[in-house]
Amino acid sequence: MAYQNFGDVMAFDTTYRTNRYAMPFVPFTGVNHHYQSVIFGFALMRDEHASTFEWILRTWLEGVGSNPPLTIITDQDQAMASAIAVVLPNTTHLLCSWHISQKFPEKLAHYYSAFPEFKTDFNNCIYKSLTECVFEARWASFVEKYHLQDHKWLKGLYELKHKWIPAYTRNKFSAFQNSTSRSEGMNSFFDKYVSSATGLKEFIENAQKALARQFMREKEEDYVTINLKRPMKLHTTLEYHASCIYTKEMFRRFQDELVESSKYFVEKDRRASEEGERMGDVYTYYSCYRPMSEPTRRNVYFVAFEKASSLGMCTCRMLEHSGLPCRHLLAVFTKKRVSEIPPYYINRSGQCMPIELMVCCLTIWMLDKVMR
Ligand SMILES: [Zn+2]
Repeated sequence: MAYQNFGDVMAFDTTYRTNRYAMPFVPFTGVNHHYQSVIFGFALMRDEHASTFEWILRTWLEGVGSNPPLTIITDQDQAMASAIAVVLPNTTHLLCSWHISQKFPEKLAHYYSAFPEFKTDFNNCIYKSLTECVFEARWASFVEKYHLQDHKWLKGLYELKHKWIPAYTRNKFSAFQNSTSRSEGMNSFFDKYVSSATGLKEFIENAQKALARQFMREKEEDYVTINLKRPMKLHTTLEYHASCIYTKEMFRRFQDELVESSKYFVEKDRRASEEGERMGDVYTYYSCYRPMSEPTRRNVYFVAFEKASSLGMCTCRMLEHSGLPCRHLLAVFTKKRVSEIPPYYINRSGQCMPIELMVCCLTIWMLDKVMR
């Protein structure tokens, strides 16, 4: 039932071994409508061959009514990657960026110690590039600056850019989980129930106790969501409406974005709007920025918005990535006096519809063009 409701994004992690036989314990995890980690199911593996992963994924699909996830997040394991490509060809496969970043200081140790600005340049390129074009331009100059053209490890990572570089993965729905570090949190939750001395029979029994506890935690949050009053921060109609439709945790996240949105200036981008109109686009384009920041260091976000339907998207791609509207889109909502969150921004599990259904390719193309 948890998978049917929240299984659109699933993390899959093989790094955990807690039983007497040192068999990898592989949990299938996700997040629920309270943003709590949930285990959908798990497997104990005898080996880590691609054929074993394929068997597990096929058996899993059989168990959940052949309903594959939209996105699967894993650590960087080649056997698992090939099994996913075979069994889940239509699922987006993302790599855990946290696991990858843990290897940077070791694999690039020489550069980190020799060049003081290396870390900043590297992080700017990987984590702060908003679009694919910006990332590619920064990557090219970064590789040239530090003579990294022949660095084998880095080259391998670059080839996997579609699976972990935020500029490429930002528009893939991941329900705020861009790493399997959440499943590691889940592993420590499991540690209370099992240890390296646990035999298999006991392991299964204790795992079931852990699942029962997880279900109780969800019930406790349901109670809080239904019964506890939520303090307003801005007292706007939009905020009141959000408090009625989101769970407590999702509302807290929404409220943070709404408060931040009040710090932004919104200006109509006439050139893009006119060009879009000429090409038959129904969207109006806005640029959004914090006026207090220096113009040369300013991050400008572009929002495409259609007043009649309140459909919109932003170059930060938070809506597609997490299911919540970003502060920039909310700043445009405020400017255009949108007083309710439109229904297609929310589905039953509190997450949004895939943006591909909402916004046409032309708009995405226009946004990229404005960014350049
Ligand atoms: Zn945004």
